[in-house]
Amino acid sequence: MSWETVIGLEIHAQLATRSKIFSGASTAFGAEPNTQASAVDLGLPGVLPVVNAGVVEMAVRFALATDAHITQRSQFARKNYFYPDLPKGYQISQMALPIVGEGAVTVSLPDGSEKTINITRAHLEEDAGKSVHDLFPDKTGIDLNRAGTPLLEIVSEPDMRSAEEAVAYARYIHALVRYIEICDGNMQEGSFRCDANISVRPSGQSEFGTRAEIKNLNSFRFLERAILFEVERQIELLEDGHEVVQETRLYDSEKDETRSMRSKEEANDYRYFPDPDLPPLVVEDAFIEQVRSNMPELPKVRRTRFIEQYKLTPTDADTLMADRATAEYFEAVLDGQKFAPKLAANWIIGELSGRLNKENCDIEHASVQPSRMAQLLARIEDGTISGKIGKQVFDEMWGNDASADDVIEKKGLKQITDTSAIEAMIDEVIAANPSQVAEYQGGKEKLLSFFVGAVMKASKGKANPGQLNQILREKLKSS
Ligand code: ADP
Ligand code: MG
Repeated sequence: MSWETVIGLEIHAQLATRSKIFSGASTAFGAEPNTQASAVDLGLPGVLPVVNAGVVEMAVRFALATDAHITQRSQFARKNYFYPDLPKGYQISQMALPIVGEGAVTVSLPDGSEKTINITRAHLEEDAGKSVHDLFPDKTGIDLNRAGTPLLEIVSEPDMRSAEEAVAYARYIHALVRYIEICDGNMQEGSFRCDANISVRPSGQSEFGTRAEIKNLNSFRFLERAILFEVERQIELLEDGHEVVQETRLYDSEKDETRSMRSKEEANDYRYFPDPDLPPLVVEDAFIEQVRSNMPELPKVRRTRFIEQYKLTPTDADTLMADRATAEYFEAVLDGQKFAPKLAANWIIGELSGRLNKENCDIEHASVQPSRMAQLLARIEDGTISGKIGKQVFDEMWGNDASADDVIEKKGLKQITDTSAIEAMIDEVIAANPSQVAEYQGGKEKLLSFFVGAVMKASKGKANPGQLNQILREKLKSS
């Protein structure tokens, strides 16, 4: 029997406001415990929450970016449960009337095909605090800095059919929220985390199977591993005649397995009800239009433009688009320049990315910024240096502010285009290798590259390759 996997994701994106969703306390990461929790975040008696206008704007941005319905009169609700890191005894969330309604995104899959994933809803809510288990030997500490941090919970339809699709969707949302600047996407710091709902059903069956929910996956790799493990586990259960129980599970990355956390029977009854402290959240048309007018170009629009305007391959376009700063770097390099976009794309995807990876550095902090990169590429384009020497110049430019021209000048890297100089080097190589010359003339044409290499070496890589090739062929014929 063959099985089909069904996956729906709930993604928590921390909204990038400086203050919390209902208070003025800072959301900055890494502060001393409990230094960023105000009376509102602590739920002290007599305080009232006030919605941060920034989070409303960010939710509307998300709706516009996913062609989603905007609920113009949404509502905050209390989700009641007891936990030490939740001093109020309830979390303020949205239940019946989320600010973002149905939407959809179209994601590219590794095999080049596309798939539309529907989004059920996205609602605003506050984060809880954090239990700290490793600070005191036999006690648990509570850090409430995170309490009240704004979250957008993005719930997908159960539209994904494999771990690969789920990862592609999660990556798409991750790139999107950074593009529209509503979330920094930092997964280590917990700014972007996924819960995966997973079930399997016999192929061809229209009903969904019973699902398990894997909580708090904070890397794409863990998301993928957890799904693969969970699918295997469920298929095995069903094939052995058992049933899958609806439950919440945790992924243990060290053991690479999922473990039960709580079953449906133990699940909380949250007793949701509209929060009496907060009036309905009203989003006027004029506000939506203002947000729309401030939206950056969306990734899908930019991707099409890159392919059409710069004649990039879809793969190159996707690579450059993977993050907004890289796409902007690319366009800044091309700004006002005449060289081929493909040259810039190759250098950014190849040399620059390699360097950034090696130094674990963001493109925003790249030592060679777009204007200097453009100078360098202009020298390759106009033939002053070859692409190969370009890499040497690039290395010399890294870590200081020398221009490409300075480096080429100072290091004497200018391409040799003087015909007589190239001829002289060729003559020497020919004179030094009489037996290879004879073999070449006898028909072993493969030896051409041996001669090219030898002359290139003699020129320290600086001979113009086109001229070198041409003159060499002629001389080999006639010598
Ligand atoms: P809950 O109210 O328990 O949170 P929801 O209906 O809101 O459940 O669904 C939560 C997530 O689970 C959604 O992303 C949805 O797409 C997904 N989901 C629902 N049913 C299934 C299923 N049978 N298999 C996989 N995912 C599912
Ligand atoms: Mg849910």
